[in-house]
Amino acid sequence: MIPKKSLGQNFLINEEIAENIADSADLSGRDNVLEIGPGKGILTKYLAQKAENVLALEIDFNLAKKLDGENYKNTKIIKGDILKINLPKLIEENHFKNYKVVANLPYYITSKIIRLFLETKYPPSEMILMVQKEVGERIIALDRKESILSISVKFYADPEILFFVSRKNFDPAPEVDSAVIKITRKKKIPDIYPVKSRGAGSRQSGTFNRVKFFSLVRAGFSSKRKTLANNLSASFSIPKVELSKELKKTNLEPGVRAERLEVEDWVRLYNIFNSW
Ligand code: SAM
Repeated sequence: MIPKKSLGQNFLINEEIAENIADSADLSGRDNVLEIGPGKGILTKYLAQKAENVLALEIDFNLAKKLDGENYKNTKIIKGDILKINLPKLIEENHFKNYKVVANLPYYITSKIIRLFLETKYPPSEMILMVQKEVGERIIALDRKESILSISVKFYADPEILFFVSRKNFDPAPEVDSAVIKITRKKKIPDIYPVKSRGAGSRQSGTFNRVKFFSLVRAGFSSKRKTLANNLSASFSIPKVELSKELKKTNLEPGVRAERLEVEDWVRLYNIFNSW
């Protein structure tokens, strides 16, 4: 079977790494695991040994069929596209509300998959993911430069890099090295109800406010070269002097760039914006 490059089919060929990934999920034998893209099943085998139940969703019909023939007692192979499937329904039907995601991700849709699981109705308690090394570093903001991606993850969860994996451990070898990261869901995600609607009866939905929150974050990052004040002033047509005054209230310097702000800074800024 020729690997399909367009589906990100770089198969892991190192058993020790596959087992390390499964071990990183700290499976107790009572945990449910959702695997995305089981491929030829190198990781699925260890997940099936360590978890109570495994759901493995594979887009490639031939791979899914072959894997189904392995007949693991506690593993259900589903043929489907993770970006098109009705995820809440899949989780409900399989009584999977407490679960972890473990996957060697198809790199062409890494950010979309991470976002999907952070925002879904039934989010996993943690995700152990193999991603492109640079993407892993960007999510953590290893260089202390935050991005829309890192803020999107850190709003919901605490990410960390567990270990790096050389490209030599895949067939075919990709052009990049990889990192295994752990994304642990926060017990409490930040409160971002607009100040004005905090009164009884006027609360807007969390989803509505999160959409607004992330449009503020995107506006802050709109031009890499510009300061936060310049970007926000241009995006929302607010005079720069006004904006600089408001930024001071949040203890942010007027010349600060968006990459320096952490989630807490964005939340403070959002709340100020909504009190105008
Ligand atoms: N888990 C295997 C391993 O570690 O060797 C395969 C990993 S490979 C990097 C990514 C896998 O994701 C492939 O098997 C590919 O067919 C599958 N895949 C790609 N796009 C997908 C999608 N949209 N939904 C589900 N699976 C997908």
